[in-house]
Amino acid sequence: MSVETLYQEMKQKLERVVPDFELRYKAELAEQINQLKKEKNAVILGHNYMEPALYYSIPDFRGDSLDLSRKAAQTDKDIIVFCGVRFMAETAKLLNPNKTVLLPSEKAGCSLAASITAQDVRQLRERFPGVPAVAYVNTYADVKAEVDICCTSSNARAVVESLHSDTVIFLPDEYLARNVAKETGRHIIFPTLEKEGETKTSTTLDYQPVGEMVGWHGRCEVHEKFTIKDIQAVRQQFPEVVILSHPECSPEVVAASDFSGSTNAMIRYVKETNAPQYLVLTECAMGDNIAAANPDKDMLRLCAVRCPHMNQITLEDTLKSLQLNQYEIDVPEDVRLRAARSVERMIAIG
Ligand code: SF4
Repeated sequence: MSVETLYQEMKQKLERVVPDFELRYKAELAEQINQLKKEKNAVILGHNYMEPALYYSIPDFRGDSLDLSRKAAQTDKDIIVFCGVRFMAETAKLLNPNKTVLLPSEKAGCSLAASITAQDVRQLRERFPGVPAVAYVNTYADVKAEVDICCTSSNARAVVESLHSDTVIFLPDEYLARNVAKETGRHIIFPTLEKEGETKTSTTLDYQPVGEMVGWHGRCEVHEKFTIKDIQAVRQQFPEVVILSHPECSPEVVAASDFSGSTNAMIRYVKETNAPQYLVLTECAMGDNIAAANPDKDMLRLCAVRCPHMNQITLEDTLKSLQLNQYEIDVPEDVRLRAARSVERMIAIG
């Protein structure tokens, strides 16, 4: 496809959200990336939080973590370029040990994934022997390796229910855990762990919980920012607005919303309904991407919140990534085998 054709396609979709001079420049970059992608037999996976010009120009597949994990598992290409954050690229590597997996920026981390270590999980499991453990996919491979199964925001409830256990360890997102505990009728606790070398203190539990969810105080630095006050202010000004929130938002925000679901579920909801206005409480770029896909719908923005990690992935860095084969994701084989098992169990549930 020529630069001009790509530019016209991008313009048709994005003229309301990206300035024209930027679109022209980005179409040139995108065309170079698409050429190189073919030459190197690569596939590009783009998360829903990618900035609009990237999102609508270079990915072969777009979606949420679960979608992209499935696509990563099915690809026959030699190279996977993951336009997302490190834990997502790691998941692609878990499922494709013989392929080269590239992450365009070394800085694309995640506050939530960084909130817990493999050692933390081992300590929790020692504390609650025999209790099954679930890790949100927003964790690093060594944490996935310590649990029984992974989940995403779209299948968290189904995964918890599949375990047929009264008590479940659910890590690391505090709000997602609270939301799933509420949905599955569980009380939630947040035990305090001793630091390595310390003796057990009175803050630790000395009983085995029944009918509970054992959570962790990890947070997504984007979704934790939305508040009830934000919702009230918007509803006052736009009484008919339909508000959608991600389950990584607090349970109070979720309860005050009209719909809560994964990024894909929110995209579907806007596409399939007709409200006077919509407000999507999630990462900013996704609001732009939904607006671009639904030009006939009135999308309100509450856009102070761009994920600083997702924001690291640019067209410039993606081009460099393909040119220089950087930054290659590597997971030690013993960790990979155990972490892949947790991800595969999740994919089997759907
Ligand atoms: S949006 Fe939140 S969970 Fe997603 S990568 Fe950014 S910090 Fe992590």
